[in-house]
Amino acid sequence: MRVSSYPLVDADTAALLVLERTPVLGAGLVPLVDCPGRVLAEDVVASAPLPAFPSSAVDGYALRAADAGKSLRVVGESAAGRPFDHPVEPGTAIRILTGGVLPSGADCVVMLEDVQLSGDVVTVPAGRGPGQNFHAPGADLRAGERVLPAGAQLGAAEIGLAAAIGLAELPVGRRPRVALLSTGDELVEVGKTPRRGQIPDSNRWALLAALREAGAEVRLLGIGPDEPEALRRLVVEALAEADVLVTSGGVSVGTHDLIKPLLESLGDVHVGRVKLKPGKPFTFATLPKGKLAFGLPGFPVSSLVTFEVFVRPALRKMQGHTQLQRPTLPVRLGYEARATADRTEYQRVTLHRDGGELVASSTGSQSSSRLMSLAGAHALVRIPAGNQGIGKGSFVQAMILALP
Ligand code: AMP
Ligand code: MG
Repeated sequence: MRVSSYPLVDADTAALLVLERTPVLGAGLVPLVDCPGRVLAEDVVASAPLPAFPSSAVDGYALRAADAGKSLRVVGESAAGRPFDHPVEPGTAIRILTGGVLPSGADCVVMLEDVQLSGDVVTVPAGRGPGQNFHAPGADLRAGERVLPAGAQLGAAEIGLAAAIGLAELPVGRRPRVALLSTGDELVEVGKTPRRGQIPDSNRWALLAALREAGAEVRLLGIGPDEPEALRRLVVEALAEADVLVTSGGVSVGTHDLIKPLLESLGDVHVGRVKLKPGKPFTFATLPKGKLAFGLPGFPVSSLVTFEVFVRPALRKMQGHTQLQRPTLPVRLGYEARATADRTEYQRVTLHRDGGELVASSTGSQSSSRLMSLAGAHALVRIPAGNQGIGKGSFVQAMILALP
């Protein structure tokens, strides 16, 4: 058996090493239609107040509060988008609809339900004060106020805010362009019938989903053979366009494992083995022009766990996110775990609530080939190296994928 010449790097050290070498990509203006999920590159400041005009909060009558308790002549209407362009004189009122502009002269709105109408005369109860039932200009947002900070992730409310202040495009971090390659002569396209010894290329689709969730634009390179020259051609061609290369398979020490020598010939390999289970053969290299390469192990769970630990934070940094890691929470182990001698282990668990606590149950066999251990998992619990038993009921840190 060949032995890898790469030093075993501590998992946390390797994660830091990756992030230190990960550039933040540039930013550009992007139309709102393409903004969901992206990261704001600069503060957004309101150039005008919101609302821009005094806007009725209800359907009713606009009048002078001093006229409350009287019968008033209704002299016009201010509907949403169709203002009444004359001042409201003493002794008169304007019918107003939600979103309609409060006409000058008026200083309050009385709800439809609270008045009596007879012909064009409205009788308004006494005891109304100025300012009632309309939104004053700037009530939601003052001119010059910071609406969204740089680094904000753009979701529904953030995009709604930008649209409400009239911005049709926003400065956002560029999405990393990732070229994704599966390697291995045993792989066949999903949907084709595998011959004996062949398996469907499932990592491609798992990693595509993970990459998209992390905000990447993905180019699928398909299946690369276990043949150095063909692999090299595929990768070199793809790197002309891509910021990041992600491969799966071909990083262990078998004779057909060609990714490490390939990355060595193209750039600098910084990590070739990590003290991590699953995911020991994880490989990270920097390539010319600030590009990155991640050689993920072939076993399906190993490729996704190393993606979570190393690739996702890097892709988030590239886009300008400030929060790079998944949230972590202490959880109580609902089972007995045995730590690995020299590797941090991420075990896949489901979580349930017990009183105020989150309790972790194992998803079963933690074999790195068994994707069933990850499907439906709520978290990866971190079992520190050390060869000791970790008793049921102990607290461990959980990287949260989805809370139950
Ligand atoms: P390797 O690192 O290339 O030795 O692969 C380790 C294991 O992962 C082998 O059992 C491979 O068949 C499996 N594997 C590699 N690539 C894929 C893939 N794209 N989809 C599913 N399994 C894979
Ligand atoms: Mg292989």
